[in-house]
Amino acid sequence: MSPHARNLVLFDIDGTLLRTEGVGVAAMLRAFTRLHGERGFSFEGVEIAGALDGLLFARMMAQHGLPADDAAHAEFQRVYGDELSRALTPSVTRRMAGTLELVAALREAGAAVGLLTGNYEHTAHLKIGVAGFESAHFPFGAFGADGPSRRHLTPVAIDRASAHLGRPFDPARVTIIGDTPHDIDCAKAHGCRAIGVGTGPYAPERLRQVGADLAVADLSETAQILDFMLGAA
Ligand SMILES: [Mg+2]
Repeated sequence: MSPHARNLVLFDIDGTLLRTEGVGVAAMLRAFTRLHGERGFSFEGVEIAGALDGLLFARMMAQHGLPADDAAHAEFQRVYGDELSRALTPSVTRRMAGTLELVAALREAGAAVGLLTGNYEHTAHLKIGVAGFESAHFPFGAFGADGPSRRHLTPVAIDRASAHLGRPFDPARVTIIGDTPHDIDCAKAHGCRAIGVGTGPYAPERLRQVGADLAVADLSETAQILDFMLGAA
């Protein structure tokens, strides 16, 4: 087994691996309107970055007095996926600098690589596919309908990594990488390490203040980041 096989790296998607320039949010709003008619659906005043899709759904439904049961949630996910697949093209999707190279280098080193994202599973894979990543490079993860908060997703992702690869992962050797304080929090709350990246709405300094073990402007310094992820423990 590779000396790095006990290391697990979990990537956030939006603001970390890629940006969709508002296309995802617009597709979500169209899905609400398609299902429930024009009711002035809006995310104004709602902090989207770092939020879970399942939570955004529940909040919006409550705000408009609509039922948010499992059937309604499943239907919403289907229609949102349909809207997103139509709107999301390579021209509105920007892959962040260095990400493809970093994922390739981690895999090459033998580390386990997965996702920890607020996106639903199918829209997560839709986004990374359009951005030029192979879905097979992220064979497991925790997603936006897997728990009531981002903190709940961390053990889900670790359990799925263990189930997929047939080996346990010590939280001390798990690194979560993301662009918001939520990503840092969901790592530190479980004894994992956190890398903050300044390609979303927060500066690296802010992510360092909330506990990131390493904060970088972007992910293009492959060697430095790789060394941090694989060097410790
Ligand atoms: Mg993000």
